[in-house]
Amino acid sequence: MSPTDGSYVVGIDLGGTKILSVCLDAALNVVDRDYRETQADEGPEAVIARMAASARAVTEGRTVRAIGVSAPGPLDLARGVVTKAPNLPGWLEIPLQRRVSELSGLPTWIENDANAGAFAEYRLGAGRGSRHMVLVAIGTGVGGGLILDGRLYHGASGGAGEVGHMVVDPDGAVCGCGRSGCLEAVASGRVLDDAAQRIAAGEPDGILARIARREGDQPDARILDLAANDGDAAAIEALTRAGRFLGAGLTNLVNLLNPDVIAIGGSVRKSEIYVRTAVETMQRDAFRQHSSDVRIVEAELGDEAPAVGAALLAIEKLDA
Ligand SMILES: [Zn+2]
Repeated sequence: MSPTDGSYVVGIDLGGTKILSVCLDAALNVVDRDYRETQADEGPEAVIARMAASARAVTEGRTVRAIGVSAPGPLDLARGVVTKAPNLPGWLEIPLQRRVSELSGLPTWIENDANAGAFAEYRLGAGRGSRHMVLVAIGTGVGGGLILDGRLYHGASGGAGEVGHMVVDPDGAVCGCGRSGCLEAVASGRVLDDAAQRIAAGEPDGILARIARREGDQPDARILDLAANDGDAAAIEALTRAGRFLGAGLTNLVNLLNPDVIAIGGSVRKSEIYVRTAVETMQRDAFRQHSSDVRIVEAELGDEAPAVGAALLAIEKLDA
């Protein structure tokens, strides 16, 4: 797609609570966006109709070439099917790609939301100019995506990039996936939330509990970070411990893939102690050459990344 051909591509991000559509012009700028509720309880067909309506809202009067859809996994990319979406009731074996294409009359492709977000970060965010980028997105859970040799890496069935389920502590806490010591089980935002609550309950007059009261907030990862910066020893310990586990995960990624950029996304990236500990652990433990090849940077794109990435991937498919 040349930057001057005057056509547009749409990205739709299907989330458990909201649908976001973005319209990208040929220069890859977001020129329009539409947010609406998913209302997942109404079932797949109603949600898909709402996705199509959202796409129409951003394309009124424009020449649109394709739609990219970002959806929660697992997906069957070859068939364009949502195999199972835990946050969307009734979503089992839903032919999302075909249905969006039928309702919009446009060529449509679907992609896992974490992968789509990683691809957007690679093309337009923290990974610009890199060839081999890993996104590690740390929120309540830990997700991510791999761009290797300039291409989104899918693996055998589209499931690659589950960085949150690298085992970094085989004797560690049990993960939502059933195994012990996944990165997500020992270093996610939820782990830090739990640590904050435990510290507040154990020391009701401690630094952390006082900060939570002052902020009028439940003890969570943000409060934990504030308390650590104010010298709360238990908070520093919790963030350092989680940071070491993230560091073990980064070491694995760096040694295995030799990336030039690892972008860290999600709200938890704002904790300086946590991220610094992780980076120092990786720099100490990874192969020296690998470690000097990689830049660990903050992800730059916000909530729109999956929608934008889905649109960018649709452009690649068109141009393929
Ligand atoms: Zn797991």
